[in-house]
Amino acid sequence: MAGTGIRIEEFIINYQGRNFLNKMIMASRIAAAFTVATITTTIAIPALAAPIFLHCGRMIDVRALEVLPERTIVINNKKIARIDRGYTAADTTNGATLIDLKNHTCMPGLIDLHVHLSLSVTASSTMESFSFNPPDYAVRGVANAEKTLMAGFTSVRDLGSAPGVGVALRNGINQGIVKGPRIQAACFIATTGGHGDPTNGLRTDLVAFAGSDRSVISGADEARRSVRQCYKDQFDLIKIATTGGVLSLAKSGDAPLLADEELAAIVGTARDYSFQVATHAHGAEGMKRAIRAGVQTIEHGTYLDEEAIALMKQKGTWLIATLSAGKFVVEKAKIDGFFPEVVRPKAQTIGPLMQGMFSRAYKGGVKIAFGTDQGVAPHGENAREFEYMVEAGMPPLETIRAATLYGATVMGLDKLIGTLETGKVADIIAVAGDPAKDIAMMSQVKFVMKDGVVHRQP
Ligand SMILES: [Zn+2]
Repeated sequence: MAGTGIRIEEFIINYQGRNFLNKMIMASRIAAAFTVATITTTIAIPALAAPIFLHCGRMIDVRALEVLPERTIVINNKKIARIDRGYTAADTTNGATLIDLKNHTCMPGLIDLHVHLSLSVTASSTMESFSFNPPDYAVRGVANAEKTLMAGFTSVRDLGSAPGVGVALRNGINQGIVKGPRIQAACFIATTGGHGDPTNGLRTDLVAFAGSDRSVISGADEARRSVRQCYKDQFDLIKIATTGGVLSLAKSGDAPLLADEELAAIVGTARDYSFQVATHAHGAEGMKRAIRAGVQTIEHGTYLDEEAIALMKQKGTWLIATLSAGKFVVEKAKIDGFFPEVVRPKAQTIGPLMQGMFSRAYKGGVKIAFGTDQGVAPHGENAREFEYMVEAGMPPLETIRAATLYGATVMGLDKLIGTLETGKVADIIAVAGDPAKDIAMMSQVKFVMKDGVVHRQP
């Protein structure tokens, strides 16, 4: 598929004499089609002719939840060509590469379903919203994408970055211009005054200056228009907030934000465009409305109760618990001035509840996939989430399944990524030691391969 990129370049060159606007619209349509149809393709990197042999001391089968000893994974043309028992010799005279991971545990590339690549929460975040231009966020996003990949996360859902950054990063990474994980970029639809309304907390003349934001809706018609705009803007999925948020400049973290008819309009229109809907929710009422409306994932889930657990099981809704964000905000709320005063009590209240919620959800049989809300806690430290999940009662190998097979399932990419099996895309990582025995090893990522390209090795 490397040839597709060349065709796009030729296309752009051939059209240089024509109307500039038409040219750009056509090129971006082709780029969009390209991104959706061929997620495995990295334009700038040529197909790899010679195979790569990985000698893995251990290999995790995330379907069977087993750690298998001594396996050789053979990668050819960006895919897993085969997996042998024991260590198969590589014919290096034919250009094959051998990578020794005998002291390591190999597993599928990790998947974080909840990151914000252009966000890095610090004590100066509120001020940055007044001084940062879109390029500032884009530059930060590039750096954070690389940190994420180097930490072993080969795919992510970006659930809200500064305007345009998630889509631009996705395209730039697919084209091989910058390094980062495979991205599905979410279009964030907020409600007036709700979580994600960019003018919350601003003085009134600045709100007027900022003007209307088409991603902030009230009413079913605006909801439908907003989903269609997300399609036009080339996003991959929809993100909504059905309750307040901890870090938004608004009083309540748990009040419901969307009415049933607005939710029906969003989910119904999203379905028309094959969008999944990810839902930020802390409070139980907003959460239940979203589950009933048919959203795919509940993000955070703080006040999950028995009724919500039953509804999620009935509807097949996934929970993405983001324990890392809970831990981070509790710590930082102790520091005077780190958060604005309207945020601090929400952080103190909601943060400590999250691991208890996770335990209830796990015991209750809710489907749980892995997501951190990174950008709240620092990018590149995504793997701390594994430790928090184990602390809350999930066995280590199940946390790894949540970050591989289940992540791929939520992204709709489970035929391509998420397991180590013949024919799958070669997204493979290795950590030092055995994470089934010590989950903290997940933060010791020593080898990263994405699309058959090695980005990090011991
Ligand atoms: Zn988030």
